[in-house]
Amino acid sequence: MHKLTQILKQRVDTTNAAPVVTPIYQNSAFEAHSPFFYTRKNNPNVEELEQVFCALEECAHSVCCSTGMAAISNTLLLLKPGAHLVINQLIYGCSYVLFERFCEQYQIQLTVLDLSSPDGISAMPEDVSMVLFETPTNPFVRSIDIAAVAQRAKACNPACLVVVDNTWATPLFQQPLLHGADLALYSATKYFSGHSDVMGGVLTTNDEALAQKLREARFYHGAIMDPNSAWLLRRSMQTFHIRMRAHGQATTQIRDWLKLQSGVEEVFYPNIDGHQLTGYATLLFFTLDARLSERYDDFVAALQLFDTGTGMACVTSMVARPYTGSHASMNEQQKQQMGLNRQLVRLSIGLEEVQDLIADLRQAFDQIGAHD
Ligand code: PLP
Repeated sequence: MHKLTQILKQRVDTTNAAPVVTPIYQNSAFEAHSPFFYTRKNNPNVEELEQVFCALEECAHSVCCSTGMAAISNTLLLLKPGAHLVINQLIYGCSYVLFERFCEQYQIQLTVLDLSSPDGISAMPEDVSMVLFETPTNPFVRSIDIAAVAQRAKACNPACLVVVDNTWATPLFQQPLLHGADLALYSATKYFSGHSDVMGGVLTTNDEALAQKLREARFYHGAIMDPNSAWLLRRSMQTFHIRMRAHGQATTQIRDWLKLQSGVEEVFYPNIDGHQLTGYATLLFFTLDARLSERYDDFVAALQLFDTGTGMACVTSMVARPYTGSHASMNEQQKQQMGLNRQLVRLSIGLEEVQDLIADLRQAFDQIGAHD
């Protein structure tokens, strides 16, 4: 064989290699007899990660996508022209913009309700095709009763799909499918990754037909997670529960400390009812006292241990202003309707020593005269 042909054909025999973790299958093509077919359809690293999410969510199917937004887009593709999508008012800004644009383009009716109130749930339109919401909500971490929404939506239309963006609670603390949701979705970029170094999206369901439709949509729209990201996420999932526990402990300590600060008007923390939501970690919202609102930028600049930016739910602490960050893509009127003001601060509590984080917050409050 010519050496150039040999270069093309050379393979190491891995039959007895027996690695203790699955290597990265960084290939697009598989041989004809392979069940994986083509990496845009399926890949061993993606499939292994999906098995991990099925175990965590205690569900039958999981579909991994390239990003959280790709998972949401894949979900929207289930809607046909003439359908009626209901969303909750408090929702991630990019999701809101996507819903508006998608619905306008495909002649889908969009209704925005406050599903955290019984009145909002009662206002569910009779022809609802899909209801999609986050709980706890972004921002303000209000709870939405998944079972109550599902009951009302199915009473209106038994074929209505109930979809919960469960990114913030994670399946460790909330399992939407057990409360009547048809589909749970996640930005894996957040807690599942936990290290701000990989993007991904996850859909979970017990409905086989639904899972099949989502896999097909993912295949034809080219939205599958890449093998390298799947491998990184699979590795992150090995420490997921430990990270979440540590994040949770630090978060409650900082919440309690913030509540005592004169520079803080209100601290937002979800209602852990022990039934739907059994725990919580990392994301805290608080409003700076009105007299300090002009010093917002100085407060953020004074923080030494909190990185700025839109990232969150990772091992390093972060600070963000939802008004100009996560909800920047919404207009003034929409923000006003949500009750989103410029005083709101979002903290993502990482795994630094909690006393160091508190000391950092204290000196930042000092610098803006919160204790004067
Ligand atoms: N859902 C929620 C609740 C989010 O916070 C985000 C991103 O911040 C997304 C979905 C989108 O996820 P991604 O950034 O992975 O596309």
